[in-house]
Amino acid sequence: MKIAIDGPAGAGKSTIALLVAKRLGLRYLDTGAMYRAVTLQALRTDTACDNGRTLVDMLTKTDLVIEFELETGRNLVYINGENVTEAIRKPEVTGNVSLVSSHAELRELIVAMQQEIARPGRIVMDGRDIGTVVMPDAQWKFFLWATVEERALRRQKQLAEAGFKVDLAELEEQIRQRDHFDSHREVSPLRKAEDAIEVDTTNLTIPEVVDSLLRWIRGGSPDV
Ligand code: C5P
Repeated sequence: MKIAIDGPAGAGKSTIALLVAKRLGLRYLDTGAMYRAVTLQALRTDTACDNGRTLVDMLTKTDLVIEFELETGRNLVYINGENVTEAIRKPEVTGNVSLVSSHAELRELIVAMQQEIARPGRIVMDGRDIGTVVMPDAQWKFFLWATVEERALRRQKQLAEAGFKVDLAELEEQIRQRDHFDSHREVSPLRKAEDAIEVDTTNLTIPEVVDSLLRWIRGGSPDV
């Protein structure tokens, strides 16, 4: 069983993918975390984010490890032995990750790592190119989206819970820019696979989205 979940920034993919994986007893891989880890390491080592070749050189000298936390199923990310699971969510990483992930040479390497993880199956992966490039053979492909306004609101709430007060208009602009960059890059742009099921999560709660996906997977008729 392979399940691909794609969609734009802030559509709730990681939360939903992790919950679906737990309900079905599958592994979960957050592919965005891998691009974020490369970005963090590039920033830390002053490696140019606009040069695919140097990013690849840097990555080949870096020990990037993704672990599956047993009780939560969450992905833990390590760079050269250091746990960077929290650090990869920092704004300066978010601000540079779309540029880093746009290089063909780097994607080739990362996609190969993701396909290696997917090989034994029993996995839910979320990202931008999972249904189209990483696991085109997935039995289930979902494309989750929500309006930019709703995604910015969700992000603002998340940040507020972590103690950060951020302007809503600013968040909307950041999300718009990241969507634009991710959808218009030449290599593996964000797009819905032809055989993906589209789910508009704008007016749905997290449990409603999870139930909707599980109904599809279990063969029930969805009512969203
Ligand atoms: O999912 P998340 O928002 O953490 O992903 C961070 C960035 O990584 C995305 O904005 C995109 O540029 C890149 N990404 C990608 N392909 C994936 C997953 C993420 O290009 N499969």
